[in-house]
This record gives sequence, C-alpha cells and structure tokens, in this order.
Amino acid sequence: PSVVNKIAAGEVIERPASVVKELVENSLDAGSRRVDVTVEQGGTELIRVVDDGCGVAPEQLELALASHATSKIIDADDLFRVATLGFRGEALASIAAVSRLTFRSRPVDAPLATELEVVGGAAEPLRPTGGPCGTTVEVRNLFFNTPVRQKFLRTTQTEMGHLTEALTRLALAHPHVHFTLNHGGRLIHDLPPGDARQRIAALLGQDLADSLISIESAEDDISLQGFVANPTHSRPNNRLQYLFLNGRFIRDRSLQHALGEAYRGLLLTGRFPVCFLHLQMPAAAVDVNVHPTKLEVRFQDGGRVYSQLLGTLRTKFLSTDL
Ligand code: ADP
Ligand code: MG
Repeated sequence: PSVVNKIAAGEVIERPASVVKELVENSLDAGSRRVDVTVEQGGTELIRVVDDGCGVAPEQLELALASHATSKIIDADDLFRVATLGFRGEALASIAAVSRLTFRSRPVDAPLATELEVVGGAAEPLRPTGGPCGTTVEVRNLFFNTPVRQKFLRTTQTEMGHLTEALTRLALAHPHVHFTLNHGGRLIHDLPPGDARQRIAALLGQDLADSLISIESAEDDISLQGFVANPTHSRPNNRLQYLFLNGRFIRDRSLQHALGEAYRGLLLTGRFPVCFLHLQMPAAAVDVNVHPTKLEVRFQDGGRVYSQLLGTLRTKFLSTDL
C-alpha cells in the first residue's frame, strides 16, 4: 500500500501548502470554530493544525489514516455535489506516506485523547494521551522519504507564499471561523471570527475592505454574492481575484474576462479589478471534474454564468458613484 500511497501523494500533495489545505479542510469539515496553523521552515520541517472540531473516536483512528477511508458521503461523481470539502478519503493517507505524521484526537464525549503516529506510511500502535477536545495533526519532515519531490521544494519564502495563499482562500470562504497562522514563532495572521468584509479587512487591510462594493443577484438557480473593489484598488495581476463556487476556490478565465468587461473604461489597461465573489449553483450545473487539486471547473452553461456576472456588475456600477 505504501507505494500506491506514495504515488497518490504525488498527485495531491505537491508542497507544504497542499498539506495545509487538506488538513484545514478536514478541520472545517469537522465543524471547527477555531483552527490554529503553526509551521516551521515554510512547512517543510513542521506543519501543525489544531482544531476544536468533532474529533475522531479511538476505534476510528486507524481507519481515518487508511487509504480511501472517508467518513463522509461518497456519492460524488461530482466534486460539487458533496457538502463537505473532502470526500475521497485519500489526503491523510497520502500525507502520512511521505512524512512523519502524528494524529491526536479527542471527541467531545471522550475523557482522553488518542494518538496515532505514522512514519512514512507505517503506523505505530495507538497511544492514549492528554489533550483538549478536537484534533491536532502534526506533519514533520515532508517528503523525507521521497528525495525527488523534496528537490522540487523552493525557498522557505516561496513555500510560505503558497501556504499563506492556501490558508487565505479557506479563510475567505469561512469568515466565521477563527484562524491563526504562526511561522517560526511569529504570528503571521490572527483572523478572529467575523463577517465577510471584516475577514477581508483582517487579511488585506481596512482600506481595501472599506472600498468594497457589495454585489448580490439571483437568476434561476444561480446566485452570486460578494464584493468587488473600487477601481482605484485594481492590481497589475489577477492575484486578488477570489472566486468561489459552492464554497470552493476556483479559477475561471471566462469569469475573469466578464469582470474585466464590467470594469471597462473604469480601469487603466493592464490593471485587474479586485473581487471576492461567491457563486452558488446546483451540482448538476457544473461539469464533472474530479482531479484532486484542479481549480478549473466547467459550467454546463458558461454563457449564463458569464452574463449574470457581467449584468450584475454593470447594473451595480451604473447606480454607484465610483
Ligand atoms: P476525506 O476528508 O476525503 O474524508 P481525509 O484523508 O482527508 O479524507 O480524512 C479521512 C477521515 O479522517 C475523514 O473522513 C474524517 O473522518 C477523519 N478526519 C480527518 N481529519 C479530521 C479532523 N481534523 N477532525 C475530525 N475528523 C477528521
Ligand atoms: Mg480531507
């Protein structure tokens, strides 16, 4: 199984940021109100995620770390049908195959926590231990047993950039959850629970948050909601274009284009508008795309989504003094 898991890990776990994404998604799926992320050396030495979620019962622990074990509904031909972020039951096993992983968990009704350590895919016996309710996952020495992948790791600063971005996307999608990020003993982010605008302010500054124009529309079964920034906050790249589909971050060229079109005349050329937009639509309106980490999606009726976004923004801009 270890070889299979190492291969699977290659697909899902590319760098420390992928580990953070998978672990934090699990924390969110567990209903956590608070998630604390601590990393050392850009996540290559240590990634620790502590949550206050529902936890895992001792008798379920080994299963949780096993390949293709998921406690979540596996209906999914369609990535977007499932309400939880995870559903393939592959992430933990994949991470455990290429690191030294410790999983410590205590469900609310349990008197003690239980700890399971996996080194390069080999599990140690379960150990009862102290600890608060919730789950702590520690991932040390990522890729220690896969030298080729280790060679592809970049500088601490680059890995930290990817990792921070992964957490930013999750934090934007879940403003009511308290997140912290610590790197090398330094507090990078402390994001107390709040509404969407407060979360944006905490991540990207009050000035930007204050300039946001709120957007809302619903046409048939597609709803659009969120913020776009005043043209003065536009950027030389599209990095601050945050688009979420049914709670997941996505990239979509067509919708980026619609955004540019809506701002046409309001922006200097070569500038990109800033946005935080959440689309909700039935799973059936999005084409199947089950690649574990793909950010691109295919809408069944892309034209409809495009024109709804463009139309909503145009109407808003006509009635707003920019
Ligand atoms: P998936 O999320 O696709 O189910 P994972 O490999 O990410 O697969 O996790 C396997 C299982 O471990 C989950 O289905 C869940 O039952 C359990 N689990 C993992 N992390 C947590 C957590 N932080 N809190 C509670 N349960 C967790
Ligand atoms: Mg998961």
